[in-house]
Amino acid sequence: MDLERLQPKLFNEFKAILQSDRMNHAYLFSGDFASFEMSLYLAQSRFCDNLQDKLPCGHCRSCHLIEKREFTDLKIVEPTGQIIKTDTIKSLMREFSSSGFEGSAQVFIIRDCEKMHPNAANSLLKFIEEPQSSSYMILLTSDESKVLPTIKSRTQIFHFPKNKELLMEQAQQAGLLKSQAETMAELASSPQNLQELLQNKKNLDLLQVCQRFTGILLKKSEDVYLEVGRLVQVVPEKADQDLVFKILTILLAKDKEVRQARTYLQALYQARLMWQSNVSFQNAIEYMVIS
Ligand SMILES: [Zn+2]
Repeated sequence: MDLERLQPKLFNEFKAILQSDRMNHAYLFSGDFASFEMSLYLAQSRFCDNLQDKLPCGHCRSCHLIEKREFTDLKIVEPTGQIIKTDTIKSLMREFSSSGFEGSAQVFIIRDCEKMHPNAANSLLKFIEEPQSSSYMILLTSDESKVLPTIKSRTQIFHFPKNKELLMEQAQQAGLLKSQAETMAELASSPQNLQELLQNKKNLDLLQVCQRFTGILLKKSEDVYLEVGRLVQVVPEKADQDLVFKILTILLAKDKEVRQARTYLQALYQARLMWQSNVSFQNAIEYMVIS
């Protein structure tokens, strides 16, 4: 899917930035929705062989190689497991200074940059403060609150909001009813993630079970205890239980003007914390219902 549809507003902003030669040397992109695609687009704008009005053509050899992430002067760093190793960043910085010396352009993209060790983050600061004229650094994060303040204060920050309308459209095109499409759009983090969620029929079944459950819960019917049993039975797996917590949160939040729903939402939050610290799924859900 193209950037123009994924992030129409930001796409126009960045087009204007490129056309007036105002691209910065260090950006922080906060939010997952198409931020990586945007960083590739910016990289293309540095290396495209056939710029059109200062914008990348998207078709030349360089543009293709960048899209496939096989372009030599584009370096992409991703965490291995839960961290980005300090050594990885240090060797990146060495390349940086040598590229600056040779005067060739380089673009560095660091995904999940909040997973850098503070030492690694600090070694980036020098670059950010004294950029080489043809080097660019784009940091991506889905959790801005965990990015070091020293990084945030030295980069230009752009927020990449989730395009819910687009996801809803996608879910409805896949045959979901409007209310289900809404919930799935809330749940999904990207068009690709939504597609994965929709491909697994079990997720749609879970959604239905959860809709039924919250319906009965908010009616304050005695049947709700029976319903807890049913819910627990369909999700023996931890991963599915996690999904149920997410779906229930979305469903209750939708009704949050109802006082009852607000109370349950708070209890659900507690229940999820309990479950995360190894209380059984059944006990956690029962705790929520009793609240
Ligand atoms: Zn091109």
